[in-house]
Amino acid sequence: MTAPLPLVFDAPRRGMPPRHLADLDADGRRAAMEALGLPKFRADQIARQYYGRLQADPEQMTDLPEAMRAKVAEALFPPLLTAVRHIACDDGSTRKTLWKANDGTLLESVLMRYPDRATLCISSQAGCGMACPFCATGQAGLTRNLSTAEIVDQVRSAAAALRDGEVAGGPGRLSNIVFMGMGEPLANYRRVVSAVRRITSPSPDGFGISQRNVVVSTVGLAPAIRKLADEDLSVTLAVSLHTPDDELRDTLVPVNNRWPVAEVLDAARYYADKSGRRVSIEYALIRDINDQPWRADMLGKKLHKTLGSRVHVNVIPLNPTPGSKWDAAPKPVEREFVRRVNEAGVPCTVRDTRGQEIAAACGQLAAEG
Ligand code: SF4
Repeated sequence: MTAPLPLVFDAPRRGMPPRHLADLDADGRRAAMEALGLPKFRADQIARQYYGRLQADPEQMTDLPEAMRAKVAEALFPPLLTAVRHIACDDGSTRKTLWKANDGTLLESVLMRYPDRATLCISSQAGCGMACPFCATGQAGLTRNLSTAEIVDQVRSAAAALRDGEVAGGPGRLSNIVFMGMGEPLANYRRVVSAVRRITSPSPDGFGISQRNVVVSTVGLAPAIRKLADEDLSVTLAVSLHTPDDELRDTLVPVNNRWPVAEVLDAARYYADKSGRRVSIEYALIRDINDQPWRADMLGKKLHKTLGSRVHVNVIPLNPTPGSKWDAAPKPVEREFVRRVNEAGVPCTVRDTRGQEIAAACGQLAAEG
């Protein structure tokens, strides 16, 4: 009998940044105050500045005595992310930011503004170890996990930029978060779950964004999906399936060799049962690879059987990487694919491809440097 492979949750802490306020929960913040010799009530005060006022510079926290600010800055606010550049498209309503972490690691986030909401797509890892052959980030491999604070601070920065009117359309409020930037969120499980709690808890513990407005995506790490279901969160789970058959999926999404389609869909059903939320299935439609009518039929059938009405398929026109053999499926093929999945009783729509002109598909901006 072969010994089971170790689980891939939580790769080791390699090159992580120093501890930051956003790494800590309420108890951790209070302990940090104690260690600094400060009264415990300061913990909530500082957290309110960070999560409520979106302030990450203690020098600007005017309710803190001046003499205390440098100490707090040194202990809890190490520099985390510096914006290397912002690229805007869609008339300025989409803005992609390339960040440099304190060790030079590059990562990115994309802010998309719609008439009724503002969505931020964030990274959970620098690079990605899942090696999907059609993805730029996958080609470069995993650099490292991001810390909870590095994930959370992408949100704070975007919320502040919106509030301060730095994004076309005037001042606004960040309403939705999707973990669909660089990386496989569930391979950085503990830090991602902590980040979800900071994003969704009310002040002073977090930004107070509704759990229902948060999407956590995965290529299908089945045991981690089940573990997430047991966290009793009501975030939306998005599974990047990309094909309903193991033969092709073993190549398109190599982790399928470990957790095949049936196991992934069973775990997704468990998530739907526990959370009461509809699961999203992501399907990057690739010309002559996974766009055949029979695959649409098989997808519809398998999803209907496993998840019933608690599923929605998002077809994503592939954003081709320069020089790559992978290309988007032609529009008539895409329409037929969508029609067939719908016909099987599974709601299926084509996802809006905001930011294509600035290479917003997984990791491409950072890959370009
Ligand atoms: S498609 Fe997603 S999971 Fe696959 S390599 Fe790219 S970033 Fe990683």
